[in-house]
Amino acid sequence: MARRTDPVCRLCRREGMKLFLKGERCYSPKCAFEKRNFAPGMHGKKGAFKHKESDYALQLREKQKARRIYGVQERQFRRYFRNALRVQGMTGVTLLVTLERRLDNAVYRLGLADSRAQARQLVLHGHFLLNGHKHNIPSYLLEVGDTIEVNPTSRGNAYFKLAAERLGERSIPVWLQFDSNRMAGRVVTPPDRQAMDLPLNEQLIVEYYSR
Ligand code: SF4
Repeated sequence: MARRTDPVCRLCRREGMKLFLKGERCYSPKCAFEKRNFAPGMHGKKGAFKHKESDYALQLREKQKARRIYGVQERQFRRYFRNALRVQGMTGVTLLVTLERRLDNAVYRLGLADSRAQARQLVLHGHFLLNGHKHNIPSYLLEVGDTIEVNPTSRGNAYFKLAAERLGERSIPVWLQFDSNRMAGRVVTPPDRQAMDLPLNEQLIVEYYSR
């Protein structure tokens, strides 16, 4: 899968909001958005976020925001949207619920990674067991009852020792249950839109793809 290699802080500046893509740095004074709260590029400072945007621009920005928050490429994102269309109910909500069910997102939500990008890396490197078996596909969509735990062979790593000390710093969403002693989580209900705490207007994303 293609991977972004350009500076991610530019994405926050482009979207005009903090997307929290870099873990701890996002909460520190080093955050690029705190220092340069305008769009990147030579004209960024002049017109950033001031002019009235067209409906299309608003829809596009909302779609890009969602994609960037979850670290999903356009092709995959479009596939999620097409699948959401086939499900009964509100397409935008179904889309966000699908994104939320990704394994890398759940690892991040459980507080076992500082960012979704880091969670993705940890999953790819085989540091997690899914339902007791080693699993390294970050895009796996979790179902109710699935369990995720840190691979016992990885628990002695310096990274997970540090992560164990910092557990509890982040609140765990209600759709996940976490056992800090075992460093294991379980999906107890499907993710709920209200509890997602996402600065997104999913209806604009639906409108973007329905043009
Ligand atoms: Fe965005 Fe985090 Fe970079 Fe700040 S530090 S600009 S929140 S990715």
